[in-house]
Amino acid sequence: MRQDPLAFLTTELNALRDQGLYRRLRVLESEALAHATFDHTSVVNLSSNNYLGFATHPRLREAALEAVRTYGVGSGAVRTISGTMALHVELERRLAAFKKVEAVVVFQSGFTANAGTVSAILNKDDAIISDELNHASIIDGARLSRATIKVFPHKDADAARAIMRDLPAGQRKLLITDGVFSMDGDLGPLPALCDVAEEFGAIMMVDDAHASGVFGAQGRGTVDHFGCHGRVDIQVGTLSKAIGVLGGYVAGTRDFIDFLCHRARPFLFSTSHPPAVTAACIAALDVLESEPQWMEQLWDNTRFFKAGLTALGFNTGRSESPITPVIVGEAPVAMQFSDKLFAQGVFAQGIGFPTVPKGQARLRTMPAATHTREDLQYALDMFGKVGRELGVIP
Ligand SMILES: *Cc1c(COP(=O)(O)O)cnc(C)c1O
Repeated sequence: MRQDPLAFLTTELNALRDQGLYRRLRVLESEALAHATFDHTSVVNLSSNNYLGFATHPRLREAALEAVRTYGVGSGAVRTISGTMALHVELERRLAAFKKVEAVVVFQSGFTANAGTVSAILNKDDAIISDELNHASIIDGARLSRATIKVFPHKDADAARAIMRDLPAGQRKLLITDGVFSMDGDLGPLPALCDVAEEFGAIMMVDDAHASGVFGAQGRGTVDHFGCHGRVDIQVGTLSKAIGVLGGYVAGTRDFIDFLCHRARPFLFSTSHPPAVTAACIAALDVLESEPQWMEQLWDNTRFFKAGLTALGFNTGRSESPITPVIVGEAPVAMQFSDKLFAQGVFAQGIGFPTVPKGQARLRTMPAATHTREDLQYALDMFGKVGRELGVIP
């Protein structure tokens, strides 16, 4: 009988099981609502990036249905062959106005936007100066580019400056940070990093995946929040989180975007979004402009929930955004905490090494605009009950 050449993967999976790192996926059986059904259990959902409830917003839903009726379900090709639809052009025009830049290109996801951009514009002679907690898609793009990667301690602009000083003056440099860090919810120090980039003539890039629809006027992101318009050369955003749908985009000058349309490999070699996705994203921009109540409710709920956790005695780290970690220490405690909460009707995903450093395992919570006060109060009560049971709080 033929031996399975993939048997070594079974061995690795068993090792994950032995270390308690094996993960079973929770299955969502309802719409992605703030109160949703996972694994036959109705829970307050504190684990979704659907900040504003747009994943089920009636105007986005209607726009998607209308696009299916008018244009069908697929684009039929990559953007550069015959897959650029009028809807794609319209979404990019709308996003450019939203971000106050000359041009935008949309990618299949935020992941491909980051990886495709960094790998397209740099090569092995260049240097990337990157925050240690930057997103995996930035790291992958940096590796694909074969540029030298220099990592600076989290949010430390002086350390980034010291790295720049040690690099050859003539070398092309890209300074890159997340706008909002996805596991801690703190903000990249944009003004200080822009200073450093300007001092050394470096390209300044911000990955704003968790900031669009959350920070800045009408959700324009951290560049707007910090008043850094004109100082950030490359902004990446996602359409998969607060925008509620799927996709990523890159915003900047017309020539930079035009270059990406000629060289970014996900743009050249992977099929464009279906009409429903694109139409729903356009509708999301309409809703961001005309229904400011969602962002207001998101921040009201965030303040209420954070204050509640703090009053209970939990360590919520350094969060400045709706992403609110509840840091418990060791990974098994986080996983047990998460399971006990789930049994009580509250879904907060446990996260351990290697996603976060050892000893800083946590439950990652994110209140949404669409949680009711009752949802959040119930979640706080259960956090208190389980936290006391496990000795995380006195
Ligand atoms: C989620 C995320 C991405 C990837 O976005 P997708 O659209 O989900 O692919 C990129 N960067 C950061 C910081 C993120 O949090």
